[in-house]
Amino acid sequence: MGKRKFKTESKRLLDLMINSIYTHKEIFLRELVSNASDAIDKIYYKALTDEKLSFNQEDYYISIEADKESRTLVVRDTGIGMSEKELEDNLGVIAKSGSLDFKDDIEKKDGFDIIGQFGVGFYSAFMVADIVSVKSKALGSDQAFEWKSKGADGYTIEPCELADVGTVITLHVKDNTDDENYDDYLDSYRLQSIVKKYSDFIRYPIKMEVTKTRQAEEGEETESYTEQETINSMVPIWSKNKSELTGEDYENFYNEKRYGFDKPAKHIHIKAEGTVRYNAILYIPQSMPFDFYSKEYERGLELYSSGVMIMKKCQDLIPEYFGFVQGMVDSEDLSLNISRELLQHDRQLKTIAKNIKTKIKNELKSMLEKDREGYEKFFETFGRQLKYGVYSEYGMNKDDLQDLLLFYSSTEKKVVTLAEYIDRMGEDQKYIYYAAGESNERIASLPQTEMVADKGYEILYFTDDVDEFAIRVLQAYDEKEFKSVSGSDLGFEADEKDEAADKDNEALFTAMKESLGDKVTKVRASKRLKNHPVCLATDGELSIEMEKVLAAMPDNPGMKADKVLEINTNHEIFAVLKSAEIEDKDKLSLYTQLLYNQALLIEGLSVADPVAFTDDILKLMK
Ligand code: ADP
Ligand code: MG
Repeated sequence: MGKRKFKTESKRLLDLMINSIYTHKEIFLRELVSNASDAIDKIYYKALTDEKLSFNQEDYYISIEADKESRTLVVRDTGIGMSEKELEDNLGVIAKSGSLDFKDDIEKKDGFDIIGQFGVGFYSAFMVADIVSVKSKALGSDQAFEWKSKGADGYTIEPCELADVGTVITLHVKDNTDDENYDDYLDSYRLQSIVKKYSDFIRYPIKMEVTKTRQAEEGEETESYTEQETINSMVPIWSKNKSELTGEDYENFYNEKRYGFDKPAKHIHIKAEGTVRYNAILYIPQSMPFDFYSKEYERGLELYSSGVMIMKKCQDLIPEYFGFVQGMVDSEDLSLNISRELLQHDRQLKTIAKNIKTKIKNELKSMLEKDREGYEKFFETFGRQLKYGVYSEYGMNKDDLQDLLLFYSSTEKKVVTLAEYIDRMGEDQKYIYYAAGESNERIASLPQTEMVADKGYEILYFTDDVDEFAIRVLQAYDEKEFKSVSGSDLGFEADEKDEAADKDNEALFTAMKESLGDKVTKVRASKRLKNHPVCLATDGELSIEMEKVLAAMPDNPGMKADKVLEINTNHEIFAVLKSAEIEDKDKLSLYTQLLYNQALLIEGLSVADPVAFTDDILKLMK
């Protein structure tokens, strides 16, 4: 059969590998071993669930053979193997896992960055080899096939001889260059140390011929001999004691498993011995998974039953708002044969999930207390998820999550917790005040904040689209209600002068409202303004910021805030309105439109008819 061509993305990735200047080329071995281990997992799982198959523990292994003479490195496994079609499907196109979406990114970043960030699976072999051969015999098949490629120009697949089910990958290692000593990858000590570093916990033996020395039978001489040895400890990292493990071990595991493309910000190792026994290693990544907000992103933890992986992304283990948490759970109390459907209702699994949720919350709490800087960094990236958690699931998690929230404070000029806000509240202050807007700068200049700030009250700035929705669910913190600076009632003591303002100017406000029609529900005297002549406020549940968020949703429900135009009766402009009311109704209408449009602009809303607005200004200037 003739040469077949790689799909475009694969070819691009392959080019990258071949010309790679990535400094950690050694990770290719981690990738091949991890594929081998996955393949053995699959056959192991099959054997456990299929009575017709029988294997012994010794039948499962990976072996590595290096030959300096022929410059070949062989990685062999007794896994499930690949059929001709699988060779084509799996190795002819770029692997599905993770790496797909960087198609567009690939040009933007440096090649080595991508390798470090994405891990690249099988193709990484081309970082160290100029010819790669994959001989494989699939379970249940008599014929083996060989996939072979010299790089980007294509590959061949031909029938070949292979005694047993499994896969044999042969790399023809590149010649040394000035920059890279490829001989390293044929050196048994070096290979051993790479395996130790990245693949020590693989549960199947990784065997290799190692050279040793011993006392010769006669005399003092020592002689060297070779012996096949298992070079990994085979103890999965999660069943080890925390005290045996270093930060680097956890980091390596994170990379090996490709949980993220960055370094983890934090790891949580759980060894639970209670009603349900399980081990778990969880990670909080440093950065948001690049595809987190895309449809492709699948949240969930890897689920193992007594060391055998039974599901890659188990969603039921982790609440949606902790969807960024990565990692795995291994429990001996879960049945291997359990189906996805049954798993959802499994009591053990529910207990584990609840437990994990609590552990993560506690970890975050302790981070907030002990490592404020680290926590603030975490919150900058994932805080939105926690706020989302407050209002999701009908608010059932709000009590736990509210203490983890941070908001920017007008007086402190940095993010603060709600508890810190309450601590600073003076005797006379009854409510927690907040203002919503696009950015801290925009909010700081909102006229609506004037009076609240003037009273010396701290204002929390809400710049995330979920903020107000979350606060509506919370309603209060430590029995102190939240109040928007733009809401109908600021909760100030009633002021007689203020009370009179609306009544005294009833005719003026009615005329203004008439001029504005449906654009506002009301025009009234403002209690929140000091230096500004005008602002928009809202009555009712929906705020202007919430209206904006809803309008941006794909299925825009079209809900509108009840907007109220508020006038500062202490402002000199008010006198202008008053005289216009008496002298010239048209002028009053012109001023009203202008003030309304100004209020819109201040709010970050667009003016419905910009031409009419500019015409109005021209009228004023003439
Ligand atoms: P990933 O492991 O993330 O899926 P890889 O590029 O490492 O991506 O591998 C691509 C696919 O090739 C694997 O998903 C698997 O189906 C197949 N594969 C690779 N190596 C082996 C192997 N040793 N035995 C069986 N299948 C393999
Ligand atoms: Mg892989």
